[in-house]
Amino acid sequence: MSRRTVVHYGPDSTSSSTFSTRSNALPTTRSISLSKRVANHSNDIVAYFHDEEVGNYHYGERHPMKPHRLTLTNHLVIAYDLHKKMEVFQPRRATDEEIMDFHAPDYIDFLKRVTPENMNNFSKVFSRYNVGDDCPVFDGMFDFCKIYSGATMDAARKLTNGSADISINWSGGLHHAKRVEASGFCYVNDIVLGIFELLRHYPRVLYVDIDIHHGDGVQEAFYATDRVMTVSFHKYNGDFFPGTGDIDEIGSGIGKHYSLNVPLKDGIDDDSYIYLFKSVMEAVINSFRPSAIVLQCGADSLGCDRLGCFNLSIKAHGECVRFIKDFKLPLLVLGGGGYTIRNVARCWAYETSILVDHEVSNDLPYHEYIDYFQPDYKLHPHLSGKVENMNTKQYIRNLRIKVLEHLRFLNGAPSVQMQEIPPDIQGFLEMNDEEEAELLADSAKGKEEKEQQRTRDHQNEFFDSERDIDMEDES
Ligand SMILES: [Zn+2]
Repeated sequence: MSRRTVVHYGPDSTSSSTFSTRSNALPTTRSISLSKRVANHSNDIVAYFHDEEVGNYHYGERHPMKPHRLTLTNHLVIAYDLHKKMEVFQPRRATDEEIMDFHAPDYIDFLKRVTPENMNNFSKVFSRYNVGDDCPVFDGMFDFCKIYSGATMDAARKLTNGSADISINWSGGLHHAKRVEASGFCYVNDIVLGIFELLRHYPRVLYVDIDIHHGDGVQEAFYATDRVMTVSFHKYNGDFFPGTGDIDEIGSGIGKHYSLNVPLKDGIDDDSYIYLFKSVMEAVINSFRPSAIVLQCGADSLGCDRLGCFNLSIKAHGECVRFIKDFKLPLLVLGGGGYTIRNVARCWAYETSILVDHEVSNDLPYHEYIDYFQPDYKLHPHLSGKVENMNTKQYIRNLRIKVLEHLRFLNGAPSVQMQEIPPDIQGFLEMNDEEEAELLADSAKGKEEKEQQRTRDHQNEFFDSERDIDMEDES
């Protein structure tokens, strides 16, 4: 079925609810075109999550974030017949409890209760939760969050239970949300929730972010762990939102060197970006050896974005997706920013075609929303050269050297293999030889270290012992 290395560490890898006793965590996704799927060239099983309603929410007339872009994307995907190459799922909404695995209960209670009608009663806590202009209160705001977050969690579970090699949720990727506050159009951080799901099965998860903005919410959540490595490529000058993401942000505690930032200047072009992306990501993957990858595909890094200032073409953006896909690891692909919505739809439809390995025409197929794509009606409009490229060749070369320098500290990192989740017999059977040897060598030492680790202060750990897999299995 799968050519990817899917390693399971749970006692029952076929059930997505294995690690939870909550009845609401039972898998409720339903395949709406399971029997119709036509094999794609690579034989990868690609699971695609889309909720028809997600595109109907409105942040506000003048707000740049337009959920309608998700409807446009989905229509293009269907018009190109790409849905026939995937398993298409109607995602389940995340529950409050699931969302509170990361977010603070008081913050979620606020998101649940506040509406445009009653918001004046909550004005005192707006600054605490950072709700206002960028993150307005709008009709159905929390439902919107539950849809995109549930889709990301379902998409992650498809990977962990081995029923997909690649999972796609274009409505996810809201990387700025923090534990107790909204930020940058993001309220609930679905990426963190998705990575939590992956960590229940996989020892190491790599997060890669190609949005023009720094993936600060995800970096912060996993800053002090070595089980998740975050890598973000973004514009940085100390001022550009969110203001973080300098090269010296590298993680802390046992997570030191497991956060990596690639700060770029205005106007970066295809060649420089691809050169940096490939050389950095190849080195990261070889050093960190992730067991699964989460790729945030924010499309505001394209040229001509309403809020962005890069010069990337859709082909170059897609080349990053192709490069990561070709490592053949379980892959969760998410959306993110993107504010020139016709280009967002083009980009994510094109990237869907890459993920299912099916070439699509540059001439857009006729469909309900074709007028959005006038006057050229092409998949690959010219988006480059609008902004002067401030990244000199020297800057790119030096940046690459500095970033790769940080990675030297990862090589041979000994204790990262098995910190929390012990392998089980079934897991061993499904591993390849190299991983098995690695685990055997580490298991005795790993168990000892794990016990010591548990007795140490866990306050900064996202994966606390109360929610530990072993304990849940016993209950
Ligand atoms: Zn962004």
